[in-house]
Amino acid sequence: MQELGQPGFRADQLSRHYFARLTDEPAEMTDLPAGLREQLGSALLPRLLTAQRELACDEGMTRKTLWRAHDGVLLESVLMRYSDRVTMCISSQAGCGMACPFCATGQAGLTRNLSTGEIVAQVFAGARALAGGTLPGGPGRVSNVVFMGMGEPLANYASVLAAVRRITDPAPAGLGISQRAVTVSTVGLVPAIQRLAAEGLSVRLAVSLHAPDDQLRDELVPVNRRWKIATVLDAAWAYAAATGRRVSIEYAMIRDVNDQAWRADALADLLAGRLAHVNLIPLNPTPGSRWTASEPAVAAEFQRRIAARGIPITVRDTRGTQIDGACGQLAASSS
Ligand code: SAH
Repeated sequence: MQELGQPGFRADQLSRHYFARLTDEPAEMTDLPAGLREQLGSALLPRLLTAQRELACDEGMTRKTLWRAHDGVLLESVLMRYSDRVTMCISSQAGCGMACPFCATGQAGLTRNLSTGEIVAQVFAGARALAGGTLPGGPGRVSNVVFMGMGEPLANYASVLAAVRRITDPAPAGLGISQRAVTVSTVGLVPAIQRLAAEGLSVRLAVSLHAPDDQLRDELVPVNRRWKIATVLDAAWAYAAATGRRVSIEYAMIRDVNDQAWRADALADLLAGRLAHVNLIPLNPTPGSRWTASEPAVAAEFQRRIAARGIPITVRDTRGTQIDGACGQLAASSS
């Protein structure tokens, strides 16, 4: 504002428009002098993302948006409405460099990191649409945010951390969503998990484990060749100790690959007595993948064996498969 020759308090006014009134439309900023609205709006709140396409299913309760950034890069976010909450699944990178073979995003490679503004803009758009009351289900607010869209959040650490602050700080500095309702999901970048544990946040950490043995995990999550399971879990338990929060262990159930009873027992051995919760994800189909979801009876037995050891375990409600909006399906193709 000072560079634009304006008094500093206008920065606070603009922040309130964006984070509290959920508007980035200069015309709606009636407390700014009429002659300045357009100039200040375009200089300080440029439109970072343009919706290219919107797909919905579940009677409109699940909506995937394909966004185009200023440089033409494409990314996706998904809004999921439940009876008691609204969760937004957002992207931290355009593409992903982690190359997990069962994930559509991983197949395309990394295009670039998203900026803090581009990450926050995905949540802003959902919050604005909900506040406007135009979505099926009526007016609402975003209660939960999961960094489970495209990209590896901890590989874009600085922008993701700043975005967490803008999403969770109270207005006018942020959207005021509870830190406890934000989940950062990672393939297991150990130094970044350690760094996150020292930030003094209370966001939930999710670790995409998918295998209890290094031999298989080396194949499913290639970064495991760098940081082995024992090291990743040590960092996860340190995170739990620092934050008091249960770590979510993500496990995609892949038929005849990682769903054997002995692997359930091996997973339970790793997690017993820890501050952990297992989230089983039925494998979602991705183009060109040779893998499919586990047989229901096999998945049920896997779940039973973990639960029998006293480890909390749930099966993820897979939303949005019809619109390629479920876990591992975000590829941001506009065709
Ligand atoms: N890169 C981070 C954030 C993405 S979260 C991470 O991997 O944690 C997306 C989640 O969906 C991860 O747990 C990922 O392993 C999982 N996933 C990827 N492809 C999937 C598929 N085809 N079916 C089910 N889950 C999948």
